[in-house]
Amino acid sequence: MDTIDIPAQLLPKDGRFGSGPSKIRPQQVRSLCDDSMSLLGTSHRQSPVKQIVASIRQGLADFFSLPDAYEVVLGNGGASAFWDIACASLISRQAAFGSYGSFSAKFAACAASAPFLLDPVIFESPVGSYRLPELTEGVDAYCWAHNETSTGVAAPVRRIPNSEEYGALMLVDATSAAGALPVDLAQCDAYYFSPQKAFGSDGGLWIAILSPAAVDRAFSLESSTELEGAVRWIPPFLSLKSAIEYSRKNQTLNTPAIATLIMLDQQIQWLNSQGGLDWSQQRCAQSASLLYDWAESSSYARPFVSDPLARSNAVVTIDMDEDISADKLVGLLRENGIVDTAGYRKLGRNQLRIGVFPSVEPADVAALTRCVDYLVEVTRG
Ligand SMILES: *Cc1c(COP(=O)(O)O)cnc(C)c1O
Repeated sequence: MDTIDIPAQLLPKDGRFGSGPSKIRPQQVRSLCDDSMSLLGTSHRQSPVKQIVASIRQGLADFFSLPDAYEVVLGNGGASAFWDIACASLISRQAAFGSYGSFSAKFAACAASAPFLLDPVIFESPVGSYRLPELTEGVDAYCWAHNETSTGVAAPVRRIPNSEEYGALMLVDATSAAGALPVDLAQCDAYYFSPQKAFGSDGGLWIAILSPAAVDRAFSLESSTELEGAVRWIPPFLSLKSAIEYSRKNQTLNTPAIATLIMLDQQIQWLNSQGGLDWSQQRCAQSASLLYDWAESSSYARPFVSDPLARSNAVVTIDMDEDISADKLVGLLRENGIVDTAGYRKLGRNQLRIGVFPSVEPADVAALTRCVDYLVEVTRG
């Protein structure tokens, strides 16, 4: 394949458009060398690192305007680990799932494989759309993704009507939504995510914002297990009760990556200093509109998600005409320093997928559209 050099004046300043891992701002990386240098390689049980964790927890509480008595909890393992934690420590008997892409389907599969849970009830919808789980007798946890990263679909976060009669919890996968999409946390009981998407840090950690009902559930499931012996196995690593107890002391069960914590803390402080979630979601909406508007007016590209209200402002998916190979385009972009623009592999569409998290400059998104136009023009001849 021939390389095509995109003229320098068209290029974005920063070419990282991944949907996770995503762009980490240079200031965050610099903070590792400057002010935080002496923290790297020191104990997470001592005050300096605990202060970073405390600052993360307080910063997120401010950022999300936490409802009363909600708690910020964290642990190692990323959002995928939190699915197993939820199966062990949050779902009592049976969960219902909205399933509309790879990530929402994966959590449902975790629940299906847990021998002490009843088979999950799954409400499926075609990729490119979403479906919330519906009220179901006996279900004690309703689960769905705020942003389905594999397809670029955003779903609402709101309690399933009448589910409170059964004391059901709403568990929302916010991995790629948290920090980019607006949310009212009173509408859910666990809003969980990893730091390598909108919070522009490294992976490996999970963060969950828990309602008092979710905290109660975690504590009571663990005590009933002890009574019922072999019925439910909560491996220590998947104990949400223990994660809550450690988090309250600004620690984690086992050793965290301190650099990840520092960069996360820097990002939260930056977001809060810019104007918090209001600012950040508007910036993401601006970047996303640049792409959707460009695709709609383009002769060869169009938004994949047909319902404008379901289009994500965090991860934007753009279908290309069949005579333009998205794979080839993605390769050419990469040779020009513009990376991670490929569609989700298992979705198998001729598509670009662009992460427009708050760290990404809207001007760089605009530049990206000009680079794609340039490459298409040149390759079409
Ligand atoms: C990225 C992602 C995950 C997985 O996160 P890990 O940190 O890799 O475990 C889960 N759900 C959604 C919606 C995601 O975007």
